[in-house]
Amino acid sequence: MSVPGAHPDLRAALLAELEERAPKVDRDRVAAAFDFADQSHGDQRRLSGQPFISHAIEVCRILLGLLETRLDTTLACAALLHDVVEDTAITLADVEKRFGKEVAALVEGVTKLSGLHFDSREAAQAENFRKMLLSMSRDLRVIFIKLADRLHNMRTLEYLGPEKRERIAAETRDIYAPLAHRFGMAGIKRELEDLALKTLDPDAYQDLTQRIQVRSEAREAFLAEMRELIGSGLKAAGIKAEVSGRPKHFYSIYQKMRAGRELDAIYDLFGLRIVTHTRNDCYRALGVVHDLLEPVGDRFKDYIAMPKNNMYQSLHTTVVAPNGEMVEVQIRTREMHRTAETGIAAHYVYKQGGHVDEELDAKLGGFVTQTADWQRTAGDDEYMDFLRTALYQEEVYAYTPRRELKRLPKGATPLDFAFLIHTEVGQHTVGARVNGELVPLRYQLKNGDTVEIITSPQAQPHEDWLKLARTTGARGKIRHWLRQQRLADSIALGREMIEREMKRLRTRPTDAQLTEVARGLGCDDLEQMFARVAEGSVSLTGVLRKLEPEKETFAERLAKGPLEALGIGRKPAGGIRIQGIENVMLQFARCCQPVPGDRVVGIVTQGRGVSVHRQDCPNTFDDRVAPERRVAVEWDTSRQETFPVRLVVYGQDRTSLLADIAKAIASTQVNIRTAGMASEDQTARGMFVVEVPHLAKLQEVMTAIRRVKGVARVERRQRTVRAAGAPPPPPPRQASGEG
Ligand code: MN
Repeated sequence: MSVPGAHPDLRAALLAELEERAPKVDRDRVAAAFDFADQSHGDQRRLSGQPFISHAIEVCRILLGLLETRLDTTLACAALLHDVVEDTAITLADVEKRFGKEVAALVEGVTKLSGLHFDSREAAQAENFRKMLLSMSRDLRVIFIKLADRLHNMRTLEYLGPEKRERIAAETRDIYAPLAHRFGMAGIKRELEDLALKTLDPDAYQDLTQRIQVRSEAREAFLAEMRELIGSGLKAAGIKAEVSGRPKHFYSIYQKMRAGRELDAIYDLFGLRIVTHTRNDCYRALGVVHDLLEPVGDRFKDYIAMPKNNMYQSLHTTVVAPNGEMVEVQIRTREMHRTAETGIAAHYVYKQGGHVDEELDAKLGGFVTQTADWQRTAGDDEYMDFLRTALYQEEVYAYTPRRELKRLPKGATPLDFAFLIHTEVGQHTVGARVNGELVPLRYQLKNGDTVEIITSPQAQPHEDWLKLARTTGARGKIRHWLRQQRLADSIALGREMIEREMKRLRTRPTDAQLTEVARGLGCDDLEQMFARVAEGSVSLTGVLRKLEPEKETFAERLAKGPLEALGIGRKPAGGIRIQGIENVMLQFARCCQPVPGDRVVGIVTQGRGVSVHRQDCPNTFDDRVAPERRVAVEWDTSRQETFPVRLVVYGQDRTSLLADIAKAIASTQVNIRTAGMASEDQTARGMFVVEVPHLAKLQEVMTAIRRVKGVARVERRQRTVRAAGAPPPPPPRQASGEG
């Protein structure tokens, strides 16, 4: 039996409160946990001077407020015991022996979280987030305790030294408040943010509270009138509802003011709230409000039909009061109100060891399962990327042409939408129509947009898409595709590098011999060796040494210096200066087609001199080309030449589009070498080869094309499939027959 500790009145008060508000909780067990915690902490005191047990009690009471009758005995015990392992000589084994596995597991989870600090170092942050969210997906109650713990610590923050205070407040603002928000726990989120603001910007906080105080006194009479007006309107319509003012949220007002808004222009500063009994009454009440007061256009939001992904539901509208002032009104049922304040806690029922079940997870937009998935597969950068999206972003809703509703983070583009529909759709996206109009892929979706994705079998992802896509899902799929593609490219390049050198050495090893070489170099198979040779992590010399130990290889010559590796020059460099060396064979890469004005780099190729690429050509990136093959090159602007550039044009098909584009190009005095256009599904894809003297002219041409009606996008064609210095692939089949 437990022995009552030094704080019998605190104990009695807590038990009485539990009896009244959560009668199902086993009070004998809770009493035992209380006594164990109280004795373990002994005469430890909080910095506030309060006995330590008062902190444990407050954490338990916050959970009671959150869960009410759904508070379970295990959680209540764990809340009381949450600091004993961290702060006293008690071990987890002791807790398990006295209170069982489940309580011990919760205490362990919370203890581990206390050791995590979220500082600014990305990697450490990602790692700590992983640990926190892993414990969360195992048992949600760990997060409940942690948030309650943090809330009470924030309430008593003033007793800490300034440095520690600021670190904890910043962490609360950046990590715990967004987490509470993601779970819909608005009450806790609001208080955490306001307390963090009070610590982090005390002057602004004081100033704000004073200014709001002054205004609220002035507005009290006005709001009372409004409540009276709406209240009697509702009564007359036979709707049972309560009309009240809304709690102020200093941090959100602070943010709006920092975004440049005047205090007086913040409508929800003194908003009203109507709480009804039924969902139907919400809409009826809205009718009454709009009947009495003129609504402000485009301020109405129906989060009842479309709940936010943290389960929030309400109708929002802004109306003009008789004196001309604007007032924001929120309408919701009692149940929605509880969800709005406590989120997941309102829906949480203890079962299966605190796991989040599928139904609940679905209401959260799959947050918990997605978190667990990313847990397993993502690198640190991607994981933080995911969390930023999952925790910090607001949402927009858009429709497919078949009126299916899709939910995306704010700032999402048609590309995100395409990948959300299907990976295949995303990968072949060429454009999009929003509400019937062609839009660029960087267009940011708005609530209610109907989005039609235009695809083409030839289209494929490219690096730029990473800048256009905002969702982690789409970015992950694009990255994955690019990685696969790059691997395939590397394998092809490595194979070619080895084969070419073998040809020069007049050696023809069998696949079996090559495989043996690969194994000898620590590769699993031939493909891996090819890829590694291309990426430079296995040296070409190493491979050839094993095959032909006698002869000097290209790679060995390359090791002496890039220019040593070049054969004898056969023609002068055209329009390019290479590190002061004359008479080097030179070619312009066909994959990226550089023109004077582009930033360029030379890549030493075997037997074919220097290949000049644009610096942003993926075929020159470090993962494809060994650094020793690079030479600095620059344009010799004294020469007058033209350079061919392939342009790809996407647009909406119409009669004479091709002719109009050709006319636009001709108007810039530039020669068109070939032109062609293919269309399907009303989407046109044109291919033009123009001859330009320099970049400025090329930009002029592209601008002229962009101005043609129906054109959505013009790009310089970049082939990523071919490796630097390798021969070009057969030309793609085009309507133009360009080759
Ligand atoms: Mn604590």
